[in-house]
Amino acid sequence: MRYISTRGEAPALGFEDVLLTGLATDGGLYVPESLPHFSLEEIRSWRGLPYAELAYKVMYPFVEDAIPADDFRKMLDETYSVFSHQAVAPLVQLDTNEWVMELFRGPTLAFKDFALQLLGRLLDYVLEKRNQHVVIMGATSGDTGSAAIEGCRRCEHVDIFILHPHQRVSEVQRRQMTTVQGDNIHNIAVKGNFDDCQRMVKESFGNQSFLGGKTQLAAVNSINWARIMAQIVYYFQASLALGGPDRSMAFSVPTGNFGDIFAGYLAKKMGLPISQLVIATNRNDILHRFMSGNKYEQHQLEHTLSPSMDIMVSSNFERLLFDLHGRDGAAVKALLENAAKGPVSIEDYRWKHARKLFDSDAVDDKTTCETIRDVYEQNEYLLDPHTAIGVRAARNCRRDSAVPMITLGTAHPAKFPDAIAESGLSVKPQLPAHMADLFEREERYTVLDNNVSEVQGFIAKHWKNA
Ligand SMILES: *Cc1c(COP(=O)(O)O)cnc(C)c1O
Repeated sequence: MRYISTRGEAPALGFEDVLLTGLATDGGLYVPESLPHFSLEEIRSWRGLPYAELAYKVMYPFVEDAIPADDFRKMLDETYSVFSHQAVAPLVQLDTNEWVMELFRGPTLAFKDFALQLLGRLLDYVLEKRNQHVVIMGATSGDTGSAAIEGCRRCEHVDIFILHPHQRVSEVQRRQMTTVQGDNIHNIAVKGNFDDCQRMVKESFGNQSFLGGKTQLAAVNSINWARIMAQIVYYFQASLALGGPDRSMAFSVPTGNFGDIFAGYLAKKMGLPISQLVIATNRNDILHRFMSGNKYEQHQLEHTLSPSMDIMVSSNFERLLFDLHGRDGAAVKALLENAAKGPVSIEDYRWKHARKLFDSDAVDDKTTCETIRDVYEQNEYLLDPHTAIGVRAARNCRRDSAVPMITLGTAHPAKFPDAIAESGLSVKPQLPAHMADLFEREERYTVLDNNVSEVQGFIAKHWKNA
């Protein structure tokens, strides 16, 4: 399998190189040159497989040039054995034909564990084979940082430096990062905001000379193809559990960067019968505005009760635009260069095609709280604010009540106690047993000034072989 850039100019790469690269050299994102396609008969034969085995069936075509089958199977067994539920991605029923798929049974209680637990193992495997080392540098406002740290804590060939804005992440989120012990784990609290952190990461990827040529940076955000790949699997899992592929399914996906929902779109292209995909956003609704009026326009960032979806531009949307433009990289490049300057539209027939593929909705904080309250009163089941947005969008956009509607449950409610309190419920979401002592664990992090040379100096001095 070869991977090509959405902007058409960077060289095609194999899986190993795509794994170790962030953006393509032309500024694009990597996508598979062609997708595997599974027949209904083949998908049907996967009924009843354990999650790790299903993951092997769905993902192996993407990695087969780089990893022998047995090694990949072993890696997947390890990856999904750290989840705290035997079914890995269990389904919970809310109503007739209405479901939540709980993707928060991993070590950091958000769906990002599905990809980042695998990514850490993939990186270490490929780096061992190549006798290479990488430094992961990432900025986080919450969930990505902790999932990346948990995913890489046992990697021998990876040092990980995560920047978070000092005193501006929730205590649960900070402790999930700073209480993980390991010589290769480094938390940096920057005296600035999330944008400052992101700017420093971007600048460092652009010029890596501070590392003295002895190692290189690798990315763990959702521009990394391996993350999208791992997220395709659970669409198959949910469908098979509810009678697929002999009936089609609808999915509602809380999204900001268009990562998780893009994986659903790929599952459909790979042969899984999906009749509806709902894009669920919060007030940062660039995707919903595009789907409603064919205008892709950056607005100011709004802080919401669902912070993991607080974005201004949606990075993975570029991967969909590439398909909408018949995989014409030059057209995507021109469009996105214009989008950086002001609002853009696409040709009407392309936009109509997008509308056939997706429905969309934007849900504000008040309605998010209302939904948390409604579902608790109906089912005594607590939704986190991100999942609540998905459930509300599913209810608003539903087309056919005979089709099971599955909302992706992206986080555990105990990660976002403020939203639960704000919804007026008196119940307090409890952290699961394996994290019950989070507030007693020892924290480790370094506070640095909002200054890129200080941060780079710290990294250059503290990675393993420095
Ligand atoms: C990251 C995250 C999302 C959004 O994921 P996308 O990659 O933007 O689709 C939604 N909910 C939670 C809890 C998250 O951590």
